[in-house]
Amino acid sequence: MIALRRWDAVVVGAGPSGSAVALALARAGATVLLVDRARFPRDKPCSEYLSPAATPLLQRLDPDLVPAIERTEPGRLYGMRIVGPDGRAAVGRFPRLPGSYRSPPYGFAVSRTVLDTLLVRGAERAGAVIEERAQVEDLCYDQGAVAGVMIRAGGGRPSRAVPARVVVGADGLRSIVARRLGLRRRSAPERLAFTAHFSGVADVGDVGEMHVGPRGEGYVGLGPIGRGVTTMALVLPAPAARRRAPELRDTAALSSGAEAFPALRGRFASARAVREILAIGPFAQWSRRSVAPGGGALLVGDAADFFDPFTGQGLFSALRGAELAAATIRAALAAQARGPLHERVLASYAAARRRAFAGKWILERLIGVGVGWPWLAARVIARLARHPTLADLLIGATGNVVPARAVLAPSHVFRLLV
Ligand SMILES: Cc1cc2nc3c(=O)[nH]c(=O)nc-3n(C[C@H](O)[C@H](O)[C@H](O)COP(=O)(O)OP(=O)(O)OC[C@H]3O[C@@H](n4cnc5c(N)ncnc54)[C@H](O)[C@@H]3O)c2cc1C
Repeated sequence: MIALRRWDAVVVGAGPSGSAVALALARAGATVLLVDRARFPRDKPCSEYLSPAATPLLQRLDPDLVPAIERTEPGRLYGMRIVGPDGRAAVGRFPRLPGSYRSPPYGFAVSRTVLDTLLVRGAERAGAVIEERAQVEDLCYDQGAVAGVMIRAGGGRPSRAVPARVVVGADGLRSIVARRLGLRRRSAPERLAFTAHFSGVADVGDVGEMHVGPRGEGYVGLGPIGRGVTTMALVLPAPAARRRAPELRDTAALSSGAEAFPALRGRFASARAVREILAIGPFAQWSRRSVAPGGGALLVGDAADFFDPFTGQGLFSALRGAELAAATIRAALAAQARGPLHERVLASYAAARRRAFAGKWILERLIGVGVGWPWLAARVIARLARHPTLADLLIGATGNVVPARAVLAPSHVFRLLV
């Protein structure tokens, strides 16, 4: 019988969370297989903005990454403009990061084709083995612990078992790893997104834009991603998205859908689509736990918890979660000599996630639900317009520059609502 190679880690999904875990583990000397069903470069529906706090994460991960992003001439966002259903707007600017050399601070906005490819190639350079066009279909178990995955490579080959001491589920919103572990849950509000790239959109500046629609009809996010390209996402409640899906396959219909928002009227008049529409959803899926019961696996990025895109926290959370996961796995591999990593040696990951994300989860849920209530959104945006320091604070919190708990202080909540 041929002994199968046992990897220290098999990482399922080479998006930002998976590539970052693979890169960090490979650099620390672990044997890592990074598997993705796609072939890179590949695109991904997203608004493509990295909060300012993502930059130091990328620098810690690999010093070559930020210079490589800068060479692609990305967009730079210095804050966010939030526009209400009545057209009223508030602008928040990012406060400076502690110890940051940047003045004023900004977040990169870069196409996911570029960002994800840089990360996956960084993982490869660090020593991870990359298997593209290979779909993970199931998990393998050994005495109740996850002990590997079943992978079906392209070209109609039969699926094969790949043993690993730990499986990292970094396979996004519809994570097969989370579903096979029985951990995936859904909650309201269910939304879907239609995304595209345009050139020639009028009045695109140095801040990202979020436009809340009237009558609870969802929202539009847009912003520059460099080289004259604007990324745009129309996010709709699931029933409206399903009703309008046939029409929204067309980029002209998508841009005229955006023009229904008061402050976007006329701005797509000279715009030209430069990338096809990519749709995704429904969102609001999350995992009950981030560590597998019985051990041998953990979840990171969207597979662990999906953040509503309105807050633009997904990429930061994917990268920060990856940093925490890699630290736990490194320590666990050192502490336990053989076999699938025990649940108890992985438990510190769940605790670290709670410490890192608890405030963000609350803020994200409040904002995610709030944008579905146009009168509430209009009220909060009017308050933010009147109190620019409050707008800076909120945008600083969603940009992960100030702690979320600062916004959740009762005095600030009172000023936002009353
Ligand atoms: C409309 C929209 C706009 C957004 N805008 C922003 C934004 O502006 N800023 C921000 O920070 N976040 C944003 N987000 C969130 C952000 O896109 C995600 O949080 C981020 O992509 C999570 O990264 P990930 O690596 O966890 O997952 P993903 O990026 O989804 O990567 C998962 C990978 O797993 C692979 N995969 C899936 N299943 C399998 C399988 N069975 N076998 C093998 N491979 C598999 C996929 O091919 C993919 O490459 C937005 C999301 C949406 C939907």
